[in-house]
Amino acid sequence: MEKMLVFGHKSPDTDTICSALVMADYQKKLGKDVKAVRLGEPNKETKYVLNYFGFEAPELIENIEEGQEVILVDHNEFPQSVDGIEKAKIRMVVDHHRIADFATAEPLYYRAEPVGCTNTILFKMYKEKGFEVEPKIAGLMLSAIISDTLLLKSPTKTAEDEEAVKALAEIAGVNYEEYGLEMLKAGTDLSDYSAEELISLDCKKFELNGKQAKVAQVNTADIPEMMKRKAEYEAAISKDIEENGLDLFVFAITDIINSNSQAVVLGNATNIFEKGFKVTLEDNTAFLPGVVSRKKQIIPVLQENA
Ligand code: MN
Ligand code: MN
Repeated sequence: MEKMLVFGHKSPDTDTICSALVMADYQKKLGKDVKAVRLGEPNKETKYVLNYFGFEAPELIENIEEGQEVILVDHNEFPQSVDGIEKAKIRMVVDHHRIADFATAEPLYYRAEPVGCTNTILFKMYKEKGFEVEPKIAGLMLSAIISDTLLLKSPTKTAEDEEAVKALAEIAGVNYEEYGLEMLKAGTDLSDYSAEELISLDCKKFELNGKQAKVAQVNTADIPEMMKRKAEYEAAISKDIEENGLDLFVFAITDIINSNSQAVVLGNATNIFEKGFKVTLEDNTAFLPGVVSRKKQIIPVLQENA
């Protein structure tokens, strides 16, 4: 049996990868030997972060053995977690999402706060214990908060996230506005991804009143440029719907500069999307002004209208 493992969700984003590395560091300070791992390929933004602050990506795992001790960060829903999670011993969760599809046989530490980023919670945990945050670790935490809050512009951002960003930028020794924009831009270079990769880079699976839905999201600085490949996305999405028996697939292409999204939507339950956003899809697409957050502005709307 492996030692205790810590990981975030499938289709890892910057918060998920950084949370795992930071939690391993936090546990080390508590005298515990915990290994950070990941459930998928880091995206370009995350690679930029790891390279900038001098970290290797955590090791990839595909599944876990029965009885494996684990810590979950940046997620709790089993469909988003590692294969075999039902049989794991979940010892701790630190997360900032809704709690759903989650149950354990044994007691555990569970910390959930409705803030913009898991790393905002982790930063508080260091402070509560009086642990020093090393500059490199501060860099990971800072990057994660910038990523999840789109440089403090997302409606998911709270005052605590903003305070944390300012304090962490100081410790990490970076100008967070300049660094943050470079980091976000590194993640928008999507030209060499296939359509299949684009719709799975940051994709989350949900159940909507018994219907199977996926909501994928990519960041861009140029929606029209991204939409030139719409036919490719439609083909990739249709294939995923067919192979995985999905009812709804929403692919949100989010403009991080102007804070809007263009959605490409397919499936037999697109009426949920149309009803929720009060739009009529034209050629499988609709523009969503002011929508940047899947968690706060897309999932709840689908949930309420399913
Ligand atoms: Mn995440
Ligand atoms: Mn997060």
